[in-house]
Amino acid sequence: MKTVRQKKARRNLGFFVNNFKFRSPFQVLIDGTFTLAALENKFNIQDQLSKYFQSEVKLLTTPCIILETEKLSSFSKAVSGAMQIVKQYPIHKCGHEKYSISGTKCLLSMVRKNNSFRYIIATQDRELQDCLRKIPGAPILYLHGKAPTLEAPSQVSREYAKNICKGLGMTEWEKENVKVLKEIAGITDGTEVKLKKKKKKGGPNPLSCLKKNKNKTQVKVSKNVEEKKSGRNKKRKKMKIAAHIKEALIAEIKNKQET
Ligand SMILES: [Zn+2]
Repeated sequence: MKTVRQKKARRNLGFFVNNFKFRSPFQVLIDGTFTLAALENKFNIQDQLSKYFQSEVKLLTTPCIILETEKLSSFSKAVSGAMQIVKQYPIHKCGHEKYSISGTKCLLSMVRKNNSFRYIIATQDRELQDCLRKIPGAPILYLHGKAPTLEAPSQVSREYAKNICKGLGMTEWEKENVKVLKEIAGITDGTEVKLKKKKKKGGPNPLSCLKKNKNKTQVKVSKNVEEKKSGRNKKRKKMKIAAHIKEALIAEIKNKQET
C-alpha cells in the first residue's frame, strides 16, 4: 500500500516538476489546519513528507498563519499544540506584517495567479483547496487520516499545461506520451525516416542501372529467341503440321543457324 501511494505521489509531483518547474527541495506552505491534523494523527510532518515525496522538503509558514493559530489556540488545547508546531517552521514574508489577514487569504496571496514561487500548499481547509484548484500549478497536500496525499493536478493545471505545450512547444511529459503513442501506432520516428531516405539515395546506383539496362536488352534478345522457340513448340503442339511442311521448316532453321 505504501509503495502504491508513493508511486501516485511521484506521478502527481512529476506533473508539477515537468510542467511547472517544481524542484527539490520542495517548498511546502503549511497552515494551522494541516498541523492540527498532523498532531491529531501523530504525523511527523518533516520526516514523513520527505519519505512520501522521496525528496527533500522545506516546510514554511507565514506570519498570518501563526497569528491565526495563536488566536484560535486560546479556545482549544489541540490548536495550541498545532500552533507550537507551526511556529517551528521558517516564516516566509507575506506582506501582511502590519495588518494580518486570515490564513486562507494569506496563502492565496502567496500563490497569487500562477504560483510562481512554486509552493505546495498543505491544508485541510476545503474552501482554500477549492480556490487553489482554480489556480494553475498549485499542488494541494492534505492528510487523509495518517496518510499524506498530494492531490492529482486540477483540471485548470492540466489545461494550462496543455496550452504551454501548444504555445511553446511540447513539455517533456507530453513528448514522452507522444513517443509512446507513435510507437504503438507504428509511426516511425525522425531517426528511422532518415535511414529510409538514405536508403533511397544510395539504393539505385546509376551504374548498376546501366548494367541492368544492358542486361535487360540481352535478356530481351534471349527472351525473344526463347519465345520464338517456345512459340514454335506451342505451334507444334497446337497445330497439326503436315510432314512435308515440318521438314521444310527444319531445313529453314538449320540454314539460319548455319548462317
Ligand atoms: Zn500574510
